[in-house]
Amino acid sequence: MKKGMLLMLMGPSGSGKNTLKAHIEKVFGDKLSFVTSYTSRAPRPGEIEGKTYHYVSRGEFETMRDAGKFIESAEYGGNYYGIPLDAVQDALKNGNILFREIEHKGYQQIKAAVSHDQYRLIFVDGGDWEHLKRRILGRAPMSENELALRKESYNIEMALKHEADAVIVNEDGKVAAAERAIESVVRDMIGK
Ligand code: 5GP
Repeated sequence: MKKGMLLMLMGPSGSGKNTLKAHIEKVFGDKLSFVTSYTSRAPRPGEIEGKTYHYVSRGEFETMRDAGKFIESAEYGGNYYGIPLDAVQDALKNGNILFREIEHKGYQQIKAAVSHDQYRLIFVDGGDWEHLKRRILGRAPMSENELALRKESYNIEMALKHEADAVIVNEDGKVAAAERAIESVVRDMIGK
């Protein structure tokens, strides 16, 4: 029987996770399932309900969380995020391979709940903090407080890098190399 698996993409803010995820969707769109998480944050321009996220209120999220609807959930930047349990259970039962980006608290919960033969962690290393800070501030203005929170998450996530099954280095100006690297890693992980 085909073995189901959850591939998780983790990396600090500004490391380029979204670009790499878009590449994986383009290349492996028909081979992977992209589970849609729930969030309490507002949709950003261009995001699509049911595809980017399911958007719910904080109250709705808490009700779902307390009813055990999430395999993991976390608060990040003042908003909730959670992966629906039923989608993961169905995928694993049916031998599908799920792909999902995640922050570190969620990863820790998955690690505690799922055996390693059913998940893999891909870590995106976008360089040192000064580097990432420039990228983050280049995207949009941000308060000192929010930047300090991102730095805190950066320190925690970098300390988990050694647990990853694969590390993708995403240096400035070398995104094509990072895309090739993650493509090859995912190909190996899914055996295609
Ligand atoms: P954003 O608001 O930029 O879409 O995501 C913020 C952070 O939440 C990112 O680090 C992203 O990887 C993480 N994230 C997205 N979906 C989930 C999820 O379902 N669970 C957890 N724990 N983190 C998530």
